[in-house]
Amino acid sequence: HVTSDQLLNENEYSLERSLRPQTLADYLGQGKIKKELAIYIEAARLREEALDHVLLYGPPGLGKTTMAMVIANEMDADIRTTSGPAIEKPGDLVALLNDLEPGGILFIDEIHRMPRIAEEMLYSAMEDFYVDIIIGQGDTAHPVHFPLPPFTLIGATTRAGSLSAPLRDRFGILAHMEYYHKDELKDIVLRSASVLQTDINTKGAYEIARRSRGTPRIANRLLKRVRDYAEVKGEGVVTEPIAALALDLLRVDHEGLDIVDQKFLSTLIKLYNGGPVGLNTLSANIGEEVDTIEDMVEPYLLQEGFIQRTSRGRMATAKAYEHLELAHLMTD
Ligand code: ADP
Repeated sequence: HVTSDQLLNENEYSLERSLRPQTLADYLGQGKIKKELAIYIEAARLREEALDHVLLYGPPGLGKTTMAMVIANEMDADIRTTSGPAIEKPGDLVALLNDLEPGGILFIDEIHRMPRIAEEMLYSAMEDFYVDIIIGQGDTAHPVHFPLPPFTLIGATTRAGSLSAPLRDRFGILAHMEYYHKDELKDIVLRSASVLQTDINTKGAYEIARRSRGTPRIANRLLKRVRDYAEVKGEGVVTEPIAALALDLLRVDHEGLDIVDQKFLSTLIKLYNGGPVGLNTLSANIGEEVDTIEDMVEPYLLQEGFIQRTSRGRMATAKAYEHLELAHLMTD
């Protein structure tokens, strides 16, 4: 499925890379995770051992990949990156692991989408740094015990719940990434603006921050669009009024809800009387994949109190009715 993030063009991808902080100190927000990781990293460095395996989980765009790069940098370790769906057969995984330097890091994005057979191979690799592989075919097939260099696996997933228990249990460090506070996002916007050499004031940065759904990737994307607007329609400076006008044009509302969020809520209210309604039905109605809704749309709407999840389906809250100015449609 294609998410709006995948629609970024190459140019935007390289910009995105340049916006990545390199050190824990530069990595803004996620204070609790950073504090813990700083200790584990220092301890591993003192013992001259590989860092324990790390599972980063939370919605897309919150900085999981960035955090993996930061950890590698802080550990002074070599890092290889791949993703669950890119690992097609166990051999792919063995090749990656075998290629690591001792103490190196393998980053697997979307680790919940890794094939089962590769996942099972990870168990012994993570626990005791070896894999058993089958060499040959038919009668000559025999297992070979294959030692690996000590390494750190960093897994990223949008859903810790879709990971099998044996895999989840093999991560020594579990880090739950949370949506960012507006002030943290404001600082991220200011930092990105300085990387992009864009003129911005604090209020302009805050206006972008508060409409970014708690997500740095969205904040950076909106900053770029607002910058374009400021250059064409303004004096090139990102101020609060310029940011507000540009974001209105993008149909990002004052709560930061985008067109998909708005469609989700208005469908729930207008077509289904506010619910409860099942996810598949909603997905068909608004033309978005179930996965996209579960990973990207719902978590934020839930956190901000626009919807409730019940055993019978999703329900709109009074806040959602009021936000869409549909309070007159509220029953009981
Ligand atoms: P994820 O892997 O969780 O989908 P990424 O690590 O790719 O998210 O982050 C998306 C973008 O957001 C990156 O380009 C990065 O510049 C920015 N970003 C993420 N977290 C932070 C942060 N804590 N501070 C500054 N920028 C961040």
